[in-house]
Amino acid sequence: MNQNPEHVKCLIIGSGPAGYTAAIYAARADMHPVMYQGMQPGGQLTETTEVDNFPGYPEGINGPAMMADLEAQAKRFDTDVRTGFVTEVDFSGPVHKAWVGEGDDRHEIHADSVIISTGASAKWLGLESELRLRDIGGGVSACAVCDGFFYRGQEVVIVGAGDSACEEASYLAKLCKKVTMLVRRDEMRASKAMQHRVNGLENIEVRYNTETVEVLGDQGVDGVKVKNSVTGEEDVIPATGFFVAIGHKPNTDVFKPWINLDDQGYIVYEQPGTSRTNVEGVFVAGDAADKTYRQAVTAAGTGCMAALDAERYLAAKGIH
Ligand code: NDP
Repeated sequence: MNQNPEHVKCLIIGSGPAGYTAAIYAARADMHPVMYQGMQPGGQLTETTEVDNFPGYPEGINGPAMMADLEAQAKRFDTDVRTGFVTEVDFSGPVHKAWVGEGDDRHEIHADSVIISTGASAKWLGLESELRLRDIGGGVSACAVCDGFFYRGQEVVIVGAGDSACEEASYLAKLCKKVTMLVRRDEMRASKAMQHRVNGLENIEVRYNTETVEVLGDQGVDGVKVKNSVTGEEDVIPATGFFVAIGHKPNTDVFKPWINLDDQGYIVYEQPGTSRTNVEGVFVAGDAADKTYRQAVTAAGTGCMAALDAERYLAAKGIH
């Protein structure tokens, strides 16, 4: 282990739109931010193809290219962007401690302020066909709001039975010819209000007791093979898009001993309308604290808030 901890004014943990926006603001405020990119540099947007809903890109942009732009912008103002994963933190004192990496490579950092922007990860079914088509941008998505537009007038399948799945199915129903929703049990978990919304839409067919066996297609989705778990019957639903809405997991495990989390692991804002957590000097931005909006642009907005809050905190503490 490194015996000489490095001291930084602002440590940013995570590198999605929230982290990079926080970095741009913090760097321009002379906070000399150090960012650790985490397991998935660029975050969830590196898993999407085309991003059409981020303001400023009239022709759209592909997700990884957008993240490369954000990284370049953060670096232009001298953000120290590093590869590495924070494996432990200690937020018990006025100086916040974080350890990066493991074993001989473990590095200790002391930070006056910390911005958590570790995001959340969409859950996937884990089927080989699903992940392969996802990885080649072949019609598998975990975000209807991001990708639904590409399936206008087409038939799609969505898996899930919570509020998100209902919301996304309703969104897709406005664009698509037909939406088939696959519910693994004989009832949904979603609120009654959300279920009514789904049931009220003519072009949504809900199939209960239905599991996905395989997503069909070579370069793009052309159908979904499903199985009824009660009768054992299998059939194929024609579709060009396959949406997975079975929940997200916020990447917050490492902060659990210190930071207040809700029952699903999302960081709880100490004071709504700010980016403050329960620990002084530790701020949060993006999906790690957001189970409602989950958009790149909202993450970027809260990244800005976190950097401004951190700047004001440091100024109030007389740390220049
Ligand atoms: P949830 O955890 O609430 O629901 C996940 C759903 O996915 C469950 O119905 C679950 O089925 C299903 N599921 C999980 N794994 C599989 C699998 N392997 N195969 C098939 N189905 C699977 O997640 P959500 O993202 O829907 O919601 C997260 C939170 O955000 C909730 O608290 C929700 O209320 C809230 N939310 C609120 C909204 C609103 O009020 N407008 C909108 C969106 C989210 P099962 O039920 O069988 O376990």
